[in-house]
Parts: sequence; structure tokens; C-alpha cells
Amino acid sequence: MLRLRNVLRPTHGYNVARLVSARYSSTKVVGIDLGTTNSAIAYIKDSNNKNSVEIIENNEGNRTTPSVVAFGKDKKWIVGEAAKRQASINPMNTFYATKRLIGRHFDSSEVKLDIEIMPFKIVPSPDNGQAYLCTTDGNVKSPSEIGSYILDHLKKQAQDYLNEKIDKAVITVPAYFNDSQRQATKDAGKLAGLKVLRVINEPTAAALSFGMDDKSNSGIIAVYDLGGGTFDISILDIEDGVFEVRATNGDTHLGGEDFDNVVVNYIIDSFVKENPEINKNNLLNNNEVIQRVKVAAEKAKIALSHVTETEISIPFITRNKHFLKTLKERELDDMTLHLINRTINPVKKALKDADIDPEDIDDIILVGGMTRMPKIRKIVEQLFNKKPTTTVNPDETVALGAAIQGGVLSGEIKNVLLLDVTPLSLGIETFGGAFSPLIPRNTTVPAKKTEVFSTGVDGQTSVLFKVYQGERGLVRDNKLIGDFVLKGIPPMLKGKPQIFVTFDVDADGIINVTASEKSTGKEQSVTVISNSGLTQDEIKKMVEEGQKNKDMDNKLRSRIELINKADVMISDTERAFEQFREVISLEENYESILKELHTVRETINLYKNNENDFSLDVNNIKRATDTLQNKSLKLFQAASKRQAKLKDTKQ
Ligand code: AMP
Repeated sequence: MLRLRNVLRPTHGYNVARLVSARYSSTKVVGIDLGTTNSAIAYIKDSNNKNSVEIIENNEGNRTTPSVVAFGKDKKWIVGEAAKRQASINPMNTFYATKRLIGRHFDSSEVKLDIEIMPFKIVPSPDNGQAYLCTTDGNVKSPSEIGSYILDHLKKQAQDYLNEKIDKAVITVPAYFNDSQRQATKDAGKLAGLKVLRVINEPTAAALSFGMDDKSNSGIIAVYDLGGGTFDISILDIEDGVFEVRATNGDTHLGGEDFDNVVVNYIIDSFVKENPEINKNNLLNNNEVIQRVKVAAEKAKIALSHVTETEISIPFITRNKHFLKTLKERELDDMTLHLINRTINPVKKALKDADIDPEDIDDIILVGGMTRMPKIRKIVEQLFNKKPTTTVNPDETVALGAAIQGGVLSGEIKNVLLLDVTPLSLGIETFGGAFSPLIPRNTTVPAKKTEVFSTGVDGQTSVLFKVYQGERGLVRDNKLIGDFVLKGIPPMLKGKPQIFVTFDVDADGIINVTASEKSTGKEQSVTVISNSGLTQDEIKKMVEEGQKNKDMDNKLRSRIELINKADVMISDTERAFEQFREVISLEENYESILKELHTVRETINLYKNNENDFSLDVNNIKRATDTLQNKSLKLFQAASKRQAKLKDTKQ
């Protein structure tokens, strides 16, 4: 058992990140927004100016690239614009929105929904039942592999554009992604030949590109992200460079495509109304027609973000018929209002979870192409009673933020670094079941700390180190995350061995705990990888429990510390009695000190036997120990002199 204090390990601080100064030096690190519908890649153009972060256009001159991968008729993989273009003629081999499947189990409810609505085949992976994709000729690919094709495509475009090798990246993920989804995203990067230096939250990246890395920019930010296929709302608390995602909510099946489908139905209905001889179902089942109508619908939807009415023109929608109609912005607003309204509840829930009123939000950042729609901006403004910020480009902001982080890691930006922090305190169990934290909650990683411990029992030759995370005073209320035994300690009196315990947490949240005994140099360690993880809700609950029980935990901890101290005092006194055995009974205070020793023993026994009785005043232990200490010191000084004299006379 350890008596002193110290140790650690935990999960990655997904929901919290901090900006600190750093000095790194390496080659360019690009920032990649691997989106559900579209992806984007950005870099730092001028290392002296972080505002010079720029999107790299693809070969077709577009600033975002469709996150679409297809297995073509010629049995070759096609990515991006080309894959999207052939979707209507090859729907079962054209994989899109696969980000919704990444790191997810085939049996999960989210995957079940996609199995129903996606035109391509989703299968369970043979080894661990994850959701994989399958082409019509049985070629099975993981969502990470599909993601890697997109990343590789973006990487190559960047290499062509910058004329240099790109092998390092910062990739963004939704704030709600768990360990397995984050790891699968990292795997995608690795498969694409990229070293993924960090995986950062999309809303955090958006806030970075908005300029929230400046320390003076503390505040509460709402990031409203409506893209092509998903809706996310995140509430961020930014204080002194620490980014904390206080709450997230959303809908993984709501986005621009639903708006397009509403317009597609409007076009088909209008067309059939004007041409009653045409069979609607035949039209709906004609993939090629639907694809052309979809393109026209999206075009009209986008146009209506800039003009109040637009003409939808689809020549030869059937053999000899054209479609031509004017669509007004107001009409589009009306027909899609039910979709816009579906974002309201998630926003309200996120605010409630973050325990924040809409008026407390300092800024609203819009992310995702759909947020260009004026009606959406209006509804967001009503929801928060404040105009959203429009200075950042909603399709590009996430990639730009990732590039800023990449620039920091490469050394191109000198004064900021987004780092993860430990979401919970890390420590070890010490004597009496107390939790001794070595690395407090919210410590920026990488972090390293060493503390010295000792044994709690005479002659103890081994120590069991139990590593915990949590905010409570006793280990029984925290989470055990690893343990190991240090053997071969030479038998010594308790408190004598010096055991150095070091917690070393790297930037990816991997924790190495080492214990070494000074006299022998014997060493033992455990590595805890932060991938088992606690969910954000569990972490939140643990922090709340810690706060709620702070007073009680402090009382318990100080009681344990006082008992430990008294225990040590008792053994030290007994040892001294033994040492001065020949002369001690001659000292005048001898009897009264024996009595004090007895009192201390009785007192701590009383507390040990009534662990849950908090009416007992812990100051009684302190008083008894202090009295024993003061009186015995005088006694042993006198006894020591007497013994020395005795020795002299004997000689
Ligand atoms: P993202 O996933 O962020 O790339 O968003 C893509 C979605 O935004 C697609 O559904 C686009 O049709 C939509 N979008 C892009 N630009 C606009 C615009 N100006 N107005 C409305 N929707 C847009």
C-alpha cells in the first residue's frame, strides 16, 4: 500500500482542448475537413500571417470536393467530382455519406436507417461486425478505406497545387464522435499515407478560423452546422484559450439533400400536373431523369440564396417535353419549413444540456453550405435572438481551422497550439483508499509528473499500484483504469523506501505510469491507452459528482490523512521506546506519554470503526497526535541524553 501521494491515466479530452504556446518544426501540415457530403483541404500560405490560411482548389477549380467514391464500370475506383457525376448510372457502386457509417457497428440503429435508405449495400465486417460497404461484384471495403480514397485524392490535389510532398494532416470530426469513430478516421488518414497529427472537433476548428484562438476572445459560442447530409449544433465555452464543447446535439439524417428532394418532388408534381398523360411513378423510377431533376433542384435552391426568384429549366425531361417554371424564394421557404424546423429542438436541447440561455451566447458561427439559405439564417437569428456571424465562409471554415492547427504543429504559426487536456484527474490509490491525483483535470497534454511515495507497512516488499481517474476523494468512487505491481523492494521500515512514481501522458492521451524504487533501481510500469474511454456524459457526470461531493470528500480525505499520520506517529513512538528501552522508564513523563500513545491508538480505532459517522470531530485525531508528538519529542531528547551518559559511564 502506498502512503504518500501520486499517479494517473485517462481518456482523451474530446470535449476540451486548450491553446498554449508551442515550438514545433517540421514540414507543411494541411487541414482537412472530411465531410459527410463534401470535403475540403486548406494550408497556411504565409507563415508570418495566420490569416493567410487558404483553401486548395481541386483540379476542376472547386473549393470543396464531393465525399463520393465509386467503383466504376471499368473496375477502377473513382473519387470526388467524377464519382458524383456517374452516380445516377451506377448507384449501387457509388458510395456517399459513408462518414455516417465510420467506426459504427452494423447492428447499431444509425446503420439500420442507412441500410434502408442507401442505394448501395452495407454489410457486417467478418471480424468485428462493423458496418462495411460492398460493391455489386462483392468487393468489400471499410468506411475507413472509402475515407482514405477521399483523403488520398485531396492530398494529391494539394501536392499538385503546392508542388511539394504532403504527408501530415490535421483532420476534423464531429464533436460527438467516440473513440472508435475517431480511430477509424485516423486509420483512413494512415491508409492515405498521411500522419494524422491531431483529430480535432469540427466546431472547435470553426471557432479557430473565426479567430477564437486569441486569448482575449473568451466567450460562449454556438456552432450551427447544416451541411449536405447532417445537422450538428455545438455549444462551445472558450476561456483563456481552453475550448470546451459543453453540449452537442443534431440529426445525422438532415441536410441539404432533403431540401433538394423537396424541390425534386415539387418539379415532378408540377410537371405531371401540366402533363397529365405522363405516369409519375415511371418518372420517379427513372434514375437518369431523377438525377437531372436533382441537379436542377439543387441549382435552384442555391440560386434562391442570392435572388428572390429563379427559373428552373430542364430541357427534354421526357422524350419531347421540357420543364420550365419560376420558383420564388418564399415558395422554397414554405415547402422546406418543416425541415428547417427540425433543427429547432436539437438547438434547444443543446442549450439545456449546456445549461445556457440563448441570451448568454456571445457568437453564433454558421457552418455548412445550407446555412447560406436566408430563411435558415432568419430562424437561427430568432432562436438566439442575435444575428449569426457571417464573416466566415460556411463551407470552408472547418478546413481553415484545421489548417490553422496544422500550421501551429508544423511551426508555421508560432504562438498557438490546440492541445487536448485531461477531462478527469488522474491519480493512484494511497493508504486508506484515498485518491491521490497527480495530474489534475484539464491539464494540457503532453504532461509529465513525478512524485515520491513510500510503503505503509513495515517490511513491505511489493506495492500494488492502482491507477484511477475521477474527481472524488476516495478511489472507490472513481474509475480504475489500470494496475501493476512493483516487486523486489528490500524490506525496510514503513515510510523509508523512496518510490518514484511518474505519470507521462502523450499528446494522443496515451498514459504511461512508471514506479521505481530508489535503492535498487527496480522499475515497473503500465501503459494505458485512452481508447476504451468514457462517454462525454459519463465524464460530465463524474465532474458533477465531484463538485457535489467536494466537501464530504475533503472531510473523508483529511480524516484518512490524519489517521495515516497518527499511525506513523504511533509506530515512530513505539520504535523510539524500543530504542531507549533501558532508560525510558526513568524519565518523568514516561507514564503520561504511554497514556497519550494509548489515547491516539484508541482515537484512530474509534474513527476506523465508525467510518461513516461524520459527527465525530476529526480534530480529535489531530489534537491527540500533536500532543503525543510534542510531549514525546521532549521525552526522547531527554532519554537520548540519558542513554548517551549511560554509555559514557559504561565505557
Ligand atoms: P456542405 O456539406 O457543407 O458542403 O454543404 C453542402 C450542402 O449545402 C448542399 O446540400 C448544397 O446544396 C448546400 N448549399 C451550398 N451552397 C448553398 C447556398 N448558397 N444556398 C443553399 N444551399 C447551399
